Amino acid sequence: MHIVIAGGGLVGLTTAAALRPLGHEVTVLEQATEIRAAGAGIGLWENALRVFDEAGIGAEVRGLGQPVHLRFFDPSGKSLRAKGYGDSDHEFRLVPRPALNTLLAGFVGPDRIRLSARVTGFEERDHEVVVHLGDGGRLAADLLIGADGVHSPVRAHLLPGSDAQPHGDHYAWRAIVPSGDEKPEGTVVTIGPERTRGGYTRVAEGRTMWMVNQFEAGPRTGGKRDRALARARHLAGAGWHGELLRMIAETPEAAILENRITLVPPLPRWTGRRVALIGDAAHGLSPHIAAGGTLGIEDAGVLRTALKTTPDLTEALKSYEQPRMERFERVRKFSADVETVTGAAEFAERYAAFSHWMLTTTPLGR
Ligand SMILES: Cc1cc2nc3c(=O)[nH]c(=O)nc-3n(C[C@H](O)[C@H](O)[C@H](O)COP(=O)(O)OP(=O)(O)OC[C@H]3O[C@@H](n4cnc5c(N)ncnc54)[C@H](O)[C@@H]3O)c2cc1C
Repeated sequence: MHIVIAGGGLVGLTTAAALRPLGHEVTVLEQATEIRAAGAGIGLWENALRVFDEAGIGAEVRGLGQPVHLRFFDPSGKSLRAKGYGDSDHEFRLVPRPALNTLLAGFVGPDRIRLSARVTGFEERDHEVVVHLGDGGRLAADLLIGADGVHSPVRAHLLPGSDAQPHGDHYAWRAIVPSGDEKPEGTVVTIGPERTRGGYTRVAEGRTMWMVNQFEAGPRTGGKRDRALARARHLAGAGWHGELLRMIAETPEAAILENRITLVPPLPRWTGRRVALIGDAAHGLSPHIAAGGTLGIEDAGVLRTALKTTPDLTEALKSYEQPRMERFERVRKFSADVETVTGAAEFAERYAAFSHWMLTTTPLGR
């Protein structure tokens, strides 16, 4: 089959890397002029790493980052973990995003990636799907995969009226900075008052990532650094988190990423006759459960299995869509549970319930 993937972000590239070894001809269309990753570091859980293992690049992906042993803290620095959950429920690998996307692009191969190629729509026919490009070009394929992010034009064409919506006034700030004398084990995640969360952790040798987010962030005065610092102060109790405040204060303004969080509403379907949505295009979530990318990588693994084991394309797309939509019904409930907590102990409980469920249930459904 000729498979066109709209979007050369994390999930588009992972999908291309997963499908290419099945013998399909794969073309990635990326609107940007280069493969680059917006973002600092990404936490990849074991369920995502298994997909990379199956694609034959698990060791390379693991080698890019550091294991993080997630702990939860209150603003006084008290460390908390929920009873009844183990170390494996709290461990992910933090990987620098640009290096990950560069690795994936190398694995897909530059001749299979078309840059400055913006997808604007498509026409589904019985025997092909014709992809429309911003420069007026057309590209015929057997299958179009929309991996084009939260504001996906493929989703807009497949499901008009499914526009992504701001998640209230929820903002996130983060940056990667040279490591200093901060605690090597990091302080992720500190749960503070005013619905503020954050901390820092080592992302790779000599580099540390800090992050702060606030639901209902209120007025955004000053520069990005001032705004991040104002939120980080909620995480600082007596003697706790001086290093987070110092780290943010020393980060150059241009190195700070500030995102307003945007969500994709629950969709009535993820597929058409010859089109499938994947990653954030299908289920852009709030990052407070730190697993949207991980679950998008799971999507790629399930789609790979469906296309490998089910010869009929319509059937294969259904056997991708149905279990993934069911799994996301649960993810949305877990996400709401984690979002609404106020105290650190309750956060530790609900987060572990989510991560344990994600890691111990099959990506093929509930
Ligand atoms: C602050 C924050 C922290 C996060 N932390 C984590 C974490 O720790 N762990 C985790 O698992 N997840 C995390 N996530 C979620 C994760 O970042 C996303 O789920 C993931 O990046 C989605 O990847 P994607 O490839 O689906 O979309 P994107 O990364 O958005 O990629 C979409 C790609 O499509 C391209 N594109 C868009 N439109 C077109 C078009 N018309 N034509 C061609 N190309 C197009 C874009 O240029 C882009 O390259 C976090 C998110 C945020 C905001």
